[in-house]
Amino acid sequence: MTFPTQLIDGYRAFLYARLRQEQDRYADLARTGQSPQVMLIGCADSRVSPEVIFDARPGEIFVVRNVANIVPPYAPDAAAHGVSAALEFGVAALKVKHIIVLGHAQCGGVKAFAEDAAPLGPSDFIGKWMALMQPALDKVGPRGALSPDDYLCKLEQANIVNSLDNLLTFPRLAKQIERGEVQIHGAFFGVATGRLSVLDRASGEFRPVADEDHARLFAQPRF
Ligand SMILES: [Zn+2]
Repeated sequence: MTFPTQLIDGYRAFLYARLRQEQDRYADLARTGQSPQVMLIGCADSRVSPEVIFDARPGEIFVVRNVANIVPPYAPDAAAHGVSAALEFGVAALKVKHIIVLGHAQCGGVKAFAEDAAPLGPSDFIGKWMALMQPALDKVGPRGALSPDDYLCKLEQANIVNSLDNLLTFPRLAKQIERGEVQIHGAFFGVATGRLSVLDRASGEFRPVADEDHARLFAQPRF
C-alpha cells in the first residue's frame, strides 16, 4: 500500500506555507484547546471545503461533514448518532455561538435522491440517509415548469432549511436558540461561480453576500 503522493506533496506545501505562518497558533491551540465560535455542518463533497471557502485558520470552525449536509432530527434512542453527538459537543462543551448549515449547488446526494437514481437503493446506507431530506422534497413539490437545474437548486436550498428546522428539534439547543445564546444560519455555495448566499429567514430567500467583491473579481482579467 502506498500513501498517496499527492497528499505527501500537499503536506509539504502546508509545511512551507501554512505551518510556517501558523506554528505559534498551532502550539497555543494545543496548549489551550480549541474554542471555535462557529460550528458548521456541510456536505462531504470535495469541492465544498468550509475552511477554504471561509479562509479559516486552525481552531476557528468546528466542522461536521456528511452526505448532503443533513442534520437528522433529535432521536434519543439506542442508535449511535454522529451529527447529534457533534452538536452536543459543539454546543455543550465548546459553547459555539453560531451553527451554519452549508449546502451547495450540484449536490450529488440531493440529485440522486430527487431522481431516485444510483447509487441510491432501499438497502443502501445512502438511501436511508437521504430519506431524511424527504420533508424538503415534499415542501418543494413537483418540478412543474422549473428547469432541472432550477429544481435541484430549490431542493438543495430546501434541504438546508430542513436541516435548520431539525436543529430546533433538539430541546436544549432550541432553548438556547430562543434565548439568543446560539444563532443558526443557512448558507449556499455555488460551485461553478464561487458565489456564497446566506438565508434570509424572514423572506426565505438565499441572498448573495459580498456580491460587489465577487462582481469586481469576475470583471477582472484572470492573469
Ligand atoms: Zn453535496
